[in-house]
Amino acid sequence: MEHPGGGIDYPRTFQEWRDWFPDEDACVQFLEQLRWPEGFVCPHCAGRGGWRIGQRRMWMCASCARKTSVTAGTIFHRSHTPLSTWFAAAWFVTSTKNGMSALALQRQLGFGSYETAWAWLHKLRRAMVRPERDQLTGVVELDETFVGGVSVGTDGGGSDKVPVQIAVERISPRKLGRVRFAVADAPGSLSLVEFGCAVIEPGSTIRTDGARMLRRFADRGYVHEYANGYNSPDRAQELPGAHMVASLLKRWLVGTLHYRVSDKHLESYLDEYAFRFNRRNSTARGLLFYRLLQQAVATDPHPLTELIADS
Ligand SMILES: [Zn+2]
Repeated sequence: MEHPGGGIDYPRTFQEWRDWFPDEDACVQFLEQLRWPEGFVCPHCAGRGGWRIGQRRMWMCASCARKTSVTAGTIFHRSHTPLSTWFAAAWFVTSTKNGMSALALQRQLGFGSYETAWAWLHKLRRAMVRPERDQLTGVVELDETFVGGVSVGTDGGGSDKVPVQIAVERISPRKLGRVRFAVADAPGSLSLVEFGCAVIEPGSTIRTDGARMLRRFADRGYVHEYANGYNSPDRAQELPGAHMVASLLKRWLVGTLHYRVSDKHLESYLDEYAFRFNRRNSTARGLLFYRLLQQAVATDPHPLTELIADS
């Protein structure tokens, strides 16, 4: 749904949220509506038409007679936890302005283990990345920043920093649009060119600090504007949007998530921050809840073992 309405398509307040989801069936029906807004579609044969069978969440296809669960293929796939608990987690995560750490979620939901809360947050973050695939357009500021590493000083500081690429739409002198992030394999302009080409629509205007390599954008179908002061002492003046986003991001990583450089999940934190930033003007927190669940039912399952494996 392009323009879901508060109080009609999603609950606006915690009070409403409780009224909307009194039990498991209410949650199942909400997911069915999100997943199949025009009625059941069989994931096996794409046939339309089917009916609910015995167990909760299950449907049978009228064409091929195979059974499907409304959560099959989503982040809730094979979860034995009631959907109502997932809904509560999604509500807490989206209704707090900055989101929450695993520890805060564990306390909020009364989970026995920190690891469970942590894994849930990662599953929800996977649902946040999905819509972030449209390319940025218009005027886009492009830059690289470094995350982590307290030692900016002289002796070897910087080696423990992770290069993060930032692209942000500049809508007007005082207004920013959407943002995209990526962790760079290595710092440097060449990978920034690849990132820019991936996330920005050709024909757009790209603003950079003017490093020589970045002038390639002009050959790739973009309008490239750059500040001459590549080596100037006050670079924040040149790409104010990208610099502001960088500082907000760092404050969030450290302040809300207690991020440390040893944490290998920076990429997924960037997904969450982009999700929040790109919806920062949304006055209804319930809309974020709606978007998150909408994307969650369209997300591949990602078994916990895989997450643990690369942690
Ligand atoms: Zn079928």
